[in-house]
Amino acid sequence: MSLVPKIILLILGISSFIGFFAFFITSINEKEIRAARITLLIAVLSASIFTGSAFLPLDLQLVILVLSVICLFLFLILFLLPIGKIEPDISIPTSRFDERNITFARARLIPGSQEYEMYYSLHPENKPFDDANRKLPGLLSDSSRYANPHLFASSQASFFLTESLRSRVDGEVALRQRPLSSKKTSTYLKSLATYYGALDVGITALKPYHVYSHIGRGEGTYGTPIMLEHKYAIVFTVEMDYSVVATAPTAPTVMESAKQYVESARIAIQLAAVIRALGYPARAHIDGNYRVIAPLVARDAGLGEIGRIGILITPSHGPRVRLGVVTTDIELVADIRKPDASIIDFCNICKKCATNCPSKSIPINERQKIKGVLKWQINPDTCFRYWYVAGTDCGICMRVCPYSHPDSFFHNVIRWGIKRSGSVRRVANWLDDFLYGKKPRNKHLHWTQT
Ligand code: SF4
Ligand code: SF4
Repeated sequence: MSLVPKIILLILGISSFIGFFAFFITSINEKEIRAARITLLIAVLSASIFTGSAFLPLDLQLVILVLSVICLFLFLILFLLPIGKIEPDISIPTSRFDERNITFARARLIPGSQEYEMYYSLHPENKPFDDANRKLPGLLSDSSRYANPHLFASSQASFFLTESLRSRVDGEVALRQRPLSSKKTSTYLKSLATYYGALDVGITALKPYHVYSHIGRGEGTYGTPIMLEHKYAIVFTVEMDYSVVATAPTAPTVMESAKQYVESARIAIQLAAVIRALGYPARAHIDGNYRVIAPLVARDAGLGEIGRIGILITPSHGPRVRLGVVTTDIELVADIRKPDASIIDFCNICKKCATNCPSKSIPINERQKIKGVLKWQINPDTCFRYWYVAGTDCGICMRVCPYSHPDSFFHNVIRWGIKRSGSVRRVANWLDDFLYGKKPRNKHLHWTQT
């Protein structure tokens, strides 16, 4: 009988070592050296404590066993009980957004052009800031901070490909319209998007606030009011490579963004072409030629929530995704959005993107009600100014976001807990800082060192 506590303590020693050692291996694979060192130390310490306790007097063995059971019990309560449940926010914008006002559209205006004069006569308040930006090195510029001839050329090549696809977002609709079941078509198109390379796919009814009010970029006449009357939007994510994103804000990160813009454009264009071949109108929305605000469409299709960072945070990959959209008139079944308050609550606690942002463009305080929507309003102008100095699209906020960790067993267990319980959200936030640092340094990929 007196051997039983000893055996249990030895089993605990071995299993805690195996568990932490597995996390150590995961961290090594992810090149997270700080997390690897810490977990190796914990693996050795926990194994030593449990196995060492097995050789203490019986009374002490029992005390340690009771304490371990209490800890295990508390741990299970933390994970399994939905403590700290919060109410989701379902507010929606009260007006449409003019694409001409977005930073990217303003950056394209050529001084002296008709569009330039038209825009700044309507919005003179933006002119001094935008003109000052035009004097900075700019994206993929040789004189920018993270200039890299090889990687910038690769990024340019991807942007070139996306640009050449911009005229292919729409096309002829087949004359014969096939009668189709909306349920079967929805399931098929979602599976097809995944087959083409999408990570996650959703469908939503297209709402007026999803659609920009006026053309600011892409095909069509600048400033024309947008009339997009499709009934549905199919929206999908594509994953950005974690190891490349981890190099942010240096050159590989913009190469990865550019590559995934190509992927999302390719999938959207293929999907739209399939729907048109079935006899229904469909338009793809791709980088530089959107008619819709993709993050809002994705949120309403249930793919995630708009976080502190101002873009879509998905539960499984955080902001480490790019989006593609197809709007169409084919009859579909919209997904029912289940607002995920856990993401908003986690952003309330976390603030890691805000404290790491080099241009201080991400708010550190609570959400504000802006045009009917409770949200964190980032400053896209100061963010973009940083891009123009860096020469890349920065991505530090995406890199440090705890949701961006790779899709692996340990991170998924934490994600599961984060979704369920406010206590886990608080512990996970502390753990992320402890294991990866409050200000994680960017990593290097040897094959991109030139
Ligand atoms: S991309 Fe960089 S500069 Fe822009 S908000 Fe994110 S961290 Fe800040
Ligand atoms: S870093 Fe933190 S606060 Fe920022 S978007 Fe990610 S979870 Fe939210």
